[in-house]
Amino acid sequence: MPNSTAAPLLGQSLSELSDWVEAQGQPAYRGKQLHNWIYDKGARSLGDITVFPKKWREQVCEAAAGGVGFIGRSQIAKRAVANDDTVKYLLKMADGQIVETVGIPTEKRLTVCVSSQVGCPMACDFCATGKGGFTRNLATHEIIDQVLTVQEDFDRRVSHIVFMGMGEPLLNSKNVVAAVRSLNEDVGIGQRNITISTVGLPGYIRRLGELKLQATLAVSLHASNQPLRERLIPSAAQYPIAELFDECRNYVKQTGRRISFEYLLLAELNDWPEHADELAEHLRGFQSHVNLIPYNPIVEVDYKRPDSSRVSGFKRALEDRHIAVSVRYSRGLDVDAACGQLRASELQKLAEA
Ligand code: SAH
Repeated sequence: MPNSTAAPLLGQSLSELSDWVEAQGQPAYRGKQLHNWIYDKGARSLGDITVFPKKWREQVCEAAAGGVGFIGRSQIAKRAVANDDTVKYLLKMADGQIVETVGIPTEKRLTVCVSSQVGCPMACDFCATGKGGFTRNLATHEIIDQVLTVQEDFDRRVSHIVFMGMGEPLLNSKNVVAAVRSLNEDVGIGQRNITISTVGLPGYIRRLGELKLQATLAVSLHASNQPLRERLIPSAAQYPIAELFDECRNYVKQTGRRISFEYLLLAELNDWPEHADELAEHLRGFQSHVNLIPYNPIVEVDYKRPDSSRVSGFKRALEDRHIAVSVRYSRGLDVDAACGQLRASELQKLAEA
């Protein structure tokens, strides 16, 4: 295992890598080679980098055992392909922890659904990840690694990234923001193709807005009023819905980017016409887009997915009020790779095996 004083190379910029290479007594141009091998060629160890002098490779490989020059790649512990070609990966980190990543291909896109934490502390009632509790934040390189892993496995460039795997990204803002920058600058994925999804925590959206990222912010709203939201999302008790909308409106001003609101549809709970009206009222004149997500069943709770006529009824009610809205059926349902189905306990068993 790497020692904690040596930062992994994955996540470092070209100039940081060049500095590191120079500190190892090598010419600066080897920094560019290192950058290319880590981000484009997917080198997992310095020993893989055949353009480096053999003697130096041997030296650095030895040092890497103590953490110096550790690149920071994970291992695929398990891979499951769903009927719709979505691939779910369980990735083993250097400390043995397991996280889940999902690769979602379409003809034009390859989207990676990345995790930002091992587990999640938010305990949303409808979400499998929340049922397993929280273990730790992911480091920057552990987030980037997920994208490179999917890219390599599909042998295809990743075009889009969504932070909709395990965890609450804004509770790990520092590493998530560093990963977004590196995925943009080092891996070459447009910031506008990166979506950070959050349940919303007081002050966090405002602080993210100050960074003026061009990434898309998605807010998991799931309810049109405060009591209903608190019932589904315990942390909402500390965050009045009006305050959440204030921060969101301010975010649009700060960044010039519209916000996506995720609205989970739970049959006969939050999917009545009056909820659509209430939601439309909140969003009147707001640069936003609503994504309706029909609930994906998890065993711990007995919520139900509304049938398709209720889903389209809810959608139509929003459209009638001039709200931009789409329905997002999750992919990968048959291998538990869909939204909200990423479960920590299963992963832990695997980690201990
Ligand atoms: N913590 C972040 C990101 C992870 S969840 C957030 O809350 O946004 C990604 C999305 O999946 C969120 O919108 C989440 O509410 C949704 N989700 C959780 N459980 C779900 C379920 N059982 N069915 C459908 N979507 C679910």
